[in-house]
Amino acid sequence: MILLTLALALPLQSEVRVHSVSDLSQEFSFYMDGRFHAQYLKGVGRDVRNWGSLHRLDLTNANLLVLVEGDAHVPYTQASIDHVERFVRDGGTVLLMADGADPMPPGAVVAERLGAKLTTQAAAKPVRAAGGAQLAVEYRGGRALELGSDWTVLVEDAQARPLLAKRRIDKGWALVGSRGLFGHQPDAKDPINASWVTPLLVELASAKAIDPARPHRGPFAEHVRELGPLRLEFTDGTQPYADSIASEYALVRPHLVALTGVEPAEGMIKSLLVLPTGGGGFSSGERIAIAAWWGNYPHERYPMVELISHEAGHSWVLPHPEPLWNEPIATYLGIRVGRRLEMPEAERTLADQLAAGRRHDPDFTRVDPLADDAPRDLVWGKSYFVFEELERLHGPGALAKYFRTKRALVAKERAHYTMDDCVAVWSRAVEADLFPFFRSLAFPVDAARTELEGR
Ligand SMILES: [Zn+2]
Repeated sequence: MILLTLALALPLQSEVRVHSVSDLSQEFSFYMDGRFHAQYLKGVGRDVRNWGSLHRLDLTNANLLVLVEGDAHVPYTQASIDHVERFVRDGGTVLLMADGADPMPPGAVVAERLGAKLTTQAAAKPVRAAGGAQLAVEYRGGRALELGSDWTVLVEDAQARPLLAKRRIDKGWALVGSRGLFGHQPDAKDPINASWVTPLLVELASAKAIDPARPHRGPFAEHVRELGPLRLEFTDGTQPYADSIASEYALVRPHLVALTGVEPAEGMIKSLLVLPTGGGGFSSGERIAIAAWWGNYPHERYPMVELISHEAGHSWVLPHPEPLWNEPIATYLGIRVGRRLEMPEAERTLADQLAAGRRHDPDFTRVDPLADDAPRDLVWGKSYFVFEELERLHGPGALAKYFRTKRALVAKERAHYTMDDCVAVWSRAVEADLFPFFRSLAFPVDAARTELEGR
């Protein structure tokens, strides 16, 4: 049995049979940015991500296109749906992971073009493999599909309604299934149903031969606008948000310079990518990526100002991320920018987090924020408390003094930057020994553990 498994598995390992494209253009998620591949195609397929508009995607050397239902802010365009259909008719396989809802998600139109209908009927558990197949099916819940007779149902719910099905379309395959049949964790630790999803994807994708010797590349957002030192990157779908996000950045930037007393670290923030999502952003230092409709933008502005400041703030902090409060300090910069712009939400955000921290440590003197089990709200609340106290006791401009001193004092090539180092830099910045102050707030810091001279 073991030998047989090995014999079957080996050819799969030794040759790449799937060139997949995970689409990020209709809705960005960290899951689709590599985790789907890690869960279902590792060892058998090479994956690239599509960051550009879907209808411009070159699929000549790809045989699997992975789509999600998408976000209503970026509907699938007619051109993109035509492109998907052409890809399938030419032999490609499209996997659409989607569930019906009211109103229907944009992916419903793609499903329809493939001949399937998303519905709002909740799937009834237990679910099972259709046609008596012996597959263990794990399911997180979702909605049933409505299909014509030319579909082969692979998974159905307790009332025999389809949840996953395939359909031959000319030379290729459409595979449509409820999202709950697949993993979703950004850490890729939930590869549910991989034992049968992987062989299924390989089998269907094999309808179109790919050339593993030729490069398989995913395109980046295709529109670029140079805005002084900043390069703005967006797609057809995120274009409606791009200009106003750029102008928010232009508004925020001088405040960040004023608050930190320095320009962003050398080589940082060269580009701003507009992400098709409402859910956050990321920073790679050189590039910050901002969720296009974060916090109901553009109808509400404070959350966007805070997010841009946060992601940009990471580039001010580098080359040495802050200990403990690398995330809190980024949001705190956003709060301070909001305060300078007289946005009332800034004070509310600060007050709420301070209150949440005080629930764990009423006067912030007891709980060690560096402890492994320190609650998140305590870490964030205490961080804000420290920043506000330092400003009150050593301001105005205490934060700027700190950032300027950090740049001057801490060499770029330094291997680590600890809380002891951080307190030494703060001490030098405000010309006072702050180790007792931090110890009074239950930070277990010690000047003897850093060679940076605090005074
Ligand atoms: Zn962050």
